[in-house]
Amino acid sequence: MVCAKCGGNNPARATFCAQCGAPLEGADEHDSGARGEKRAIGGRVLAYGWKAKAGAISGEDGNRYTFEVGQWLSDTKPALGGGVDFIPLGDVAMDIYVPVGSDDASGGLITRGFITGLLALLLG
Ligand SMILES: [Zn+2]
Repeated sequence: MVCAKCGGNNPARATFCAQCGAPLEGADEHDSGARGEKRAIGGRVLAYGWKAKAGAISGEDGNRYTFEVGQWLSDTKPALGGGVDFIPLGDVAMDIYVPVGSDDASGGLITRGFITGLLALLLG
């Protein structure tokens, strides 16, 4: 990190110049960028209408979000109750993905449980 004021060299993570004490602008920009970064959260699909091309998600933060089909970025179609990962923006869900393996895993568990129960019925 080169000081804009005196041109002195400083460690990359330095926030103030070691030579003249001036704040290093590069570090400030990096900090504000990190603060502005949007965090994805998890949630579940509450409702989805193919005709309306819109739906609703119940976020793990307790809020409800609406979404449009354009924000659905996974190849997997929205499934009611299905787990999703999205970026909340106001009360709208953006950049929605279905976490890889999450739904398959739960579906597999349900199927295995069903088969186990069926076997118990047949054998018992
Ligand atoms: Zn300096």
